[in-house]
Amino acid sequence: MTHAEDHHGQLKNDLRKWVEQNSDTGLDWFLDEGPVEALPEAPVVPEVPIAPEAPVIPVTPESQTTPEVPANPELQKAAKPQPPQPAPPIKDPEFQRQCDHFVEATFGLMGRQAPHQVVPDPLLEKHGGDPRRALKELRDEVLPCVQCKLAETRTQVVFGAGSAHAKVMFIGEAPGRDEDLQGQPFVGASGQLLTKIISAIGFEREHIFIGNILKCRPPANRDPLPVEVKACEPFLKRQLAIIQPSIICCLGRVAAQTLLNTEDGLGKLRESVHFYEGIPVMATYHPAALLRNPAWKRDTWNDVRRLRALYDALEQRKS
Ligand code: SF4
Repeated sequence: MTHAEDHHGQLKNDLRKWVEQNSDTGLDWFLDEGPVEALPEAPVVPEVPIAPEAPVIPVTPESQTTPEVPANPELQKAAKPQPPQPAPPIKDPEFQRQCDHFVEATFGLMGRQAPHQVVPDPLLEKHGGDPRRALKELRDEVLPCVQCKLAETRTQVVFGAGSAHAKVMFIGEAPGRDEDLQGQPFVGASGQLLTKIISAIGFEREHIFIGNILKCRPPANRDPLPVEVKACEPFLKRQLAIIQPSIICCLGRVAAQTLLNTEDGLGKLRESVHFYEGIPVMATYHPAALLRNPAWKRDTWNDVRRLRALYDALEQRKS
């Protein structure tokens, strides 16, 4: 056998193994080359613009002021997002069993938590229970913040974005370079991947809220310092107290370790549900990490399907 034939045989073997390993996945976000199996039918929803395309100009906190939210109750009602698309079907019975077990175990743990530990933020009461107006006022409070040294190096505060009525809140560790320049969370390639991930489980950006533990970018994207987390965490707690999500999903090791105050690795934290102020917390890979290491997309896909199963079970329990 020639060297070329040997090399060709090795490539075929690798390809066969790859197809076998990925045979039960069905998402275009999982494989940039295209889906392995047909995607579930879903109506085409126009892409939600993630960030303005205009040249980025550093802005002052005053120019970032959130536009006034109308108080009209009809408009408030209309602002609530439509229910998400149905969850994609799970074809693997073993994974279905795992999802069922995860939901059952989570409900068991929730039963042992003190319910509704999140005390509604005073701004909610001030605005008649309207989370949009409360979130707007909180945002206007946060934008000029100088409570830690990151205020000296940031371009913009990144408050977070999404629905004030969100049932699922995704939390990253801190803004990166693009986010710092644009004042928006999860923009650029990792933001687009996050949008694909959530739409793969039937959500649009309007169904979720995306934020970070730190609202300002640490220089050179270093990990947050404890003193910075201590200064900024109250803002996250207030966002949670206003939005009152049913589930939190931490994106990446640093976000999960910081929020849960643990040194456990992401692999361990992904295995089970945790709690923050009584809210179930799941952890998965940061989209930027998936871009660097596509082999983690499969685990992420399983994580977000478990998240969707828990979301559906919680919604069913409420109705
Ligand atoms: S990171 Fe948080 S606490 Fe520090 S300046 Fe920014 S908003 Fe304020």
